[in-house]
Amino acid sequence: MAVTSKPSTSTSLRHETMLIDGAWTDGNAREAITVLNPGNRKPIASVPRGTAEDIDTAVKAATAAFPAWMRVPPRDRGRILTRIADVIEARVEELAKIIAEETGNAIKTQARPEAKGTAEIFRYFGGLASELKGETIPFGEHVLSYTRREPIGVVGAIIPWNAPVLLGSLKIAPALCAGNTLVLKAAEDAPLGILWVARICQEFLPKGVLNVITGYGPEAGAALSAHPGVRKLSFTGSTEVGKLVMKAASERIVPVSLELGGKSPSIVYPDANEDWVVDGIIAAMRFTRQSQSCTAGSRLFLHADIFDDFLNKLAAKASKLKIGNPLDEETDMGAIINEKQFRKVCGYVEDGLKQPGATLRFGGLPPKDGPLSEGFFAIPTLFAHDANDWRLAKEEIFGPVLVAIKWTDEQEAIRMANQTHYGLAGYVWTKDIGRALRTAHAIEAGWVQINQGLGQSPGHSYGGVKQSGIGREFSLEGMLDSFTIKKNVTINLATP
Ligand code: ADP
Repeated sequence: MAVTSKPSTSTSLRHETMLIDGAWTDGNAREAITVLNPGNRKPIASVPRGTAEDIDTAVKAATAAFPAWMRVPPRDRGRILTRIADVIEARVEELAKIIAEETGNAIKTQARPEAKGTAEIFRYFGGLASELKGETIPFGEHVLSYTRREPIGVVGAIIPWNAPVLLGSLKIAPALCAGNTLVLKAAEDAPLGILWVARICQEFLPKGVLNVITGYGPEAGAALSAHPGVRKLSFTGSTEVGKLVMKAASERIVPVSLELGGKSPSIVYPDANEDWVVDGIIAAMRFTRQSQSCTAGSRLFLHADIFDDFLNKLAAKASKLKIGNPLDEETDMGAIINEKQFRKVCGYVEDGLKQPGATLRFGGLPPKDGPLSEGFFAIPTLFAHDANDWRLAKEEIFGPVLVAIKWTDEQEAIRMANQTHYGLAGYVWTKDIGRALRTAHAIEAGWVQINQGLGQSPGHSYGGVKQSGIGREFSLEGMLDSFTIKKNVTINLATP
């Protein structure tokens, strides 16, 4: 969580600076943002409230660094990334603790896997540098026509707070591997982990290749989206802000990659009324990340034959998740990022409780006293309703509130699953492979999983359709499509 303060008022509070042109600095910022631990609402550190001038300085630094960086042989760029991966891997516990503290995500279930995943991302893209290959086009013996994968230039990247280090690394590693330079705007609620990663990167990178600005979205973020020196925009966050970024990009015809929200369906067939499926639904819903995930399978379509029995099993398992201090190794589920989000999630629960036709099957409003009331702790909650078109089934809650909807006819289940403007992920649960594949192919989403609910790994092209986004991340194709330009060179070989 972030609040604005004067920079030097609390002397004991750790202060982290921004990375601009190889230097650690407050830039032009006259105010600071205090980062709070969502688990106890206490300050952890402050960071500069970066300004439009800071963005401008950073873009100029990245522009100046670009010609030399693009000429570094790709393998050498890749080697730098793998060396960064080695250092992150060796210090993974340090990073896990920072992530848990600033995001409120439990160290055991989320923050440590995120820290490990970050090292993996640098290693994966480091190994892909030699794959920045072109093609030859067969125009006949008298012509040589080939393509080159060239970097685009200065990339402007904006990231959210829910998995800030992983999502930030998914922009830094492929963009730099492909020979671009970067200005990254960290999320105001969780900037510390990505600044820690940037410190490691800076030990290996020439100055100006990577710049990280802290600050608020409508200030620093908007300035980055609108900066004429930025040649590519890569954004992860809400659909609402994604539209603003796309609008800014359209002013200058700058290519844009958007990884936005979701309201992903999980379709459970009658043969899947089993414990491992219940575990899978909990994983797909990302309950252990307080469901603050755009991939969360937050609409549960359960076949009528198993509806009540499955929900009873789910209630029993969900109630066993241990909620509390994110840094405690026993904790499964931590805290919601900030007060605004916490109130928003509570608002959805209140709405559900008042909704005619909806029944609360487990969970509800968070406790008002006791240890959990000290932080922004929400509890796993499920409402059952026959309708698919009420507010909780339509809007992205970004909190642990699941809705269950009954179905009997497969086509009807698929129709309801697709009845959304989102299209990020989907989950299908059945042992009948024909049904599973038929359904997976019919779901309008960028990623459908069958009989598993967990996260993505490097190599798989991740991204959405409809209002869940444009472009793919996490893979070789993602790097090539998002961070390179395909240039064609054609040579007449028949000159006298
Ligand atoms: P969330 O609600 O998940 O925080 P947001 O889309 O609000 O998602 O934020 C994601 C990122 O976008 C953050 O770094 C935030 O500061 C930034 N952001 C917010 N508003 C704007 C804006 N108007 N222009 C550019 N970036 C913005």
